[in-house]
Amino acid sequence: MNQGSPDLLVVGAGPVGCVVSERAAKIRGWKSLLIDRRNHIAGNCHDRLHESGLLIHPYGPHYFRTSNQALLDYLSAFTSWIPGNYKVKSLVNGELFPFPINLDTLEKFFQCALDSESAALLLSEKSERFPKVENSEELLLSRLGRDLYEAFYLGYTRKQWAQHPRDLAPSVCGRVPIRFNRDDSYVEGKFQLMPAEGYTRLFSRMIDHPLIELNLNVDYRALKEFVKPRIATIFCGPIDEYFNFRLGPLPWRSLSFEHNYHSKKMAQPCVQINYPGADVPYTRSVEIKHVTGQTHPGTVVSLETPRSEGEPFYPVPSHRSDKLYLAYQELAAEENRNAERPVYFIGRLACYKYINTDEAIEMALQAFSNIEKDFLFGRT
Ligand code: UDP
Repeated sequence: MNQGSPDLLVVGAGPVGCVVSERAAKIRGWKSLLIDRRNHIAGNCHDRLHESGLLIHPYGPHYFRTSNQALLDYLSAFTSWIPGNYKVKSLVNGELFPFPINLDTLEKFFQCALDSESAALLLSEKSERFPKVENSEELLLSRLGRDLYEAFYLGYTRKQWAQHPRDLAPSVCGRVPIRFNRDDSYVEGKFQLMPAEGYTRLFSRMIDHPLIELNLNVDYRALKEFVKPRIATIFCGPIDEYFNFRLGPLPWRSLSFEHNYHSKKMAQPCVQINYPGADVPYTRSVEIKHVTGQTHPGTVVSLETPRSEGEPFYPVPSHRSDKLYLAYQELAAEENRNAERPVYFIGRLACYKYINTDEAIEMALQAFSNIEKDFLFGRT
C-alpha cells in the first residue's frame, strides 16, 4: 500500500465504491484507497469468463435498466452497450408462461382470448379486497387473485426468502410488474441495456485513475486502525457487521450457484426461467448468453438456489427488519456525532435497501454530492 493517508477510505469495490472513488478523483482531485475483501471488483455485478470461455454472471443475472438519461450518459463514458434482451418465462404445471404476467400469460393460464379491458375486468373479479395492503400476499391477492398468486408467486417466494409472502413487505413481490399488454420484458425502464464488454470491464475503466488505489483481498477490520483518511470513510458493507452485530444480526438472504456447461449452442428458450414449483430447490436458471450474444459452440446455464447462510445478497424487507435497521442507523448517527472523521454508509448492504444497480449508482452519485457539500461547508 502507498504511503500517506488517502482522502477517502472506500470500503467495498462494488458499483457504489467505484462511483464514489471515480467522482472523488475526477471532480475534486481526492485520492481514494478503495478496498474489497473479495478478489475482484464490481461487487455482485461482477462478471467473468467461465472455464469454457463464456461470460457468466457468477452472482446472478444483472439486468441493467434505467429511465434516467443523465445516469446512462455518465456510465456511457466507461462502456458501450448492447440491447438488454431480458425475456423470462415461468414454469408452471409443466408449461412455460411469459413472466411477468402479461396478456399472453393470462390468455394461456385462463384459456381464453383477452384484451386489456377484459383482462383488467377478469382480474378485478378474481382479486380480493383489503382495507390496507400490509404484505406481499395481500398485494398479490388484491391484484391477481388466488390462482395466479399461488401458481406464480407463492412457491417461488417461499423458496427465495424462506418466508411466507404474508411476512414480507408489499414491495418485495411488488417489484415485479403486472401488465395488461403484451410487453414481455422482465424489467421496466426506458433504457434496457447490458454493458457490451460486461460489468467488470465497465467498473475497471471507471476506477482506472492515478488517484484511485485499489487493494483487493483486504478486510476493513484489519485495516481500520492503520488507515486514517483525511476526509471520510465510505462504508459499503453490511451495516450490522460494521457494528459487530451489537444489536443482533439483520436478516439477510444468500444464494448459491451452479454453473453448468452444455455442449450445444443454446439450452433454454430465453435468458431466465423461473421455477415456482417445490419439486426443484432452485428458483431460476439463467443462460446469460441470450443477452451477451457471445459466439461460442457451447453455453452455460446457471442454477440459483437461495440459502440463509453465506454472503449477504438481499436484505429481507419486513416490519421487524426495518426496525432493527433503524436502530443500526441510530448507532451510525451516534458514532458520527463523536467521530473525528465521518463514516458514510452507502449502498444495498450498508443501507439495508433492496435496490437495483441503477438505483445503487444514483445513490452513490447523490451521496458523493453530500460528501462534497459536507466538506465544503466544513462539516468534515
Ligand atoms: N417472484 C415470484 N415469482 C417469480 C419471480 C419473482 O414470486 O417468478 C417474487 C419473489 O418473492 C422475488 C420477488 O418477486 O423475490 C422479486 O423478484 P425479482 O425477480 O425482482 O427478484 P431479484 O431479481 O431481485 O432476485
